[in-house]
Amino acid sequence: MEFQFATKCIYGNREKLAGEPTGAISFPIYQTATYAHQGVGESTGFDYSRLQNPTRQQLEKVVASLEKGCDALAFSSGMAAITALMEIFKPGDHLITDADLYGGSIRLFNNISEKNGITFSHINCSRENVESFVQKNTKAIFIETPTNPMMNVVDIRKMSEIAKKYNLLLIVDNTFLSPYFQNPLELGADIVVHSGTKFLGGHNDTLSGFVVTNSQEISEKLRFIIKTVGSGLAPMDSWLILRGIKTLPLRMEKSQENAKAIVEFLLNEPRVKKVYYPGIKGTDGYEICRKQARGFGSMITFEVESKELACHILKHTRLIPFAESLGGVETLLTYPCTQTHADVPEDVRLANGITDSVLRLSAGIEDKEDLIADLRQAVNSYKPGAAADENGGQHG
Ligand SMILES: *Cc1c(COP(=O)(O)O)cnc(C)c1O
Repeated sequence: MEFQFATKCIYGNREKLAGEPTGAISFPIYQTATYAHQGVGESTGFDYSRLQNPTRQQLEKVVASLEKGCDALAFSSGMAAITALMEIFKPGDHLITDADLYGGSIRLFNNISEKNGITFSHINCSRENVESFVQKNTKAIFIETPTNPMMNVVDIRKMSEIAKKYNLLLIVDNTFLSPYFQNPLELGADIVVHSGTKFLGGHNDTLSGFVVTNSQEISEKLRFIIKTVGSGLAPMDSWLILRGIKTLPLRMEKSQENAKAIVEFLLNEPRVKKVYYPGIKGTDGYEICRKQARGFGSMITFEVESKELACHILKHTRLIPFAESLGGVETLLTYPCTQTHADVPEDVRLANGITDSVLRLSAGIEDKEDLIADLRQAVNSYKPGAAADENGGQHG
């Protein structure tokens, strides 16, 4: 039987712990590299953990069911997932990618994939005429929505129509909204990727990544790649992500509620010049996001009046850590220009609007009053001109 979302987060599609001889409520961690065979040609279905491991398999089943795919593969990080996915393309292939993506994806495309003979058109998929960039050798469109960090909303159905017309794959990085709020495969995408480090894991304690597909053919290619390149998720880490997913619906709701309160505060704060959040009525992305997602998520990007104020806030929050990453129970503040997007060429970064006055906030599940009070005291303690010693932190 097919369960509803929150039930699947806890059990996947297992009925009554079927197949668990001990009755363990928590899925066991099969900390084993290899598996014994009864005889030649006989197998339990598990041969070697690079290919498959029961804990990883359980996690993959849960994620596939949440994203409505026929298969999901769990990797050691989001970047390991995207790197493995790029192996389905050949030298000479061309991809259209959004220009405003997670900085690590742009670094992978520009430095590793290009070296392997794949070419790219990095464009603004929410504003430009995507169709006009399709070439004879174009094989895929790669997007995020909302984009990281500028929160542009890309119309997944529209991208899917273009992809189908030219026989391209549509790949959607669904990290920001998670399957709780958005299911790209249902909107016409062929492949979904996730940094499971973020909302799926949800506790800022484990790296992981996923590729999900609804195509048997793509699944077979990816299974060959994961066993060959060996970047599958370890059993212990698979278990941590399984545990994290159990509370995904609760965390998504609470962090979105906090994000909405923080957005209200930021919109009324005179030293904040612009707030980027798809849930703000009247913005470009609002209507599209409403049509393709069940929520707006908990990621907020905002621009303050100066670089000095941005650095001051990062240094003077008392509760909210200044740290890379997102999607966990802890609210985090990130400085994209020196952290997540430091390796994006400066002209591209500025064209995307990622100036040195831009901050990104991932709302966690704390009490919103504490978060707002912390941001307020950090902004209000700023005295223009008095902060020459501050800098934007380290890049990771
Ligand atoms: C973090 C992130 C990634 C990379 O994932 P890792 O788990 O850090 O390797 C990819 N895409 C998006 C949108 C991300 O936020």
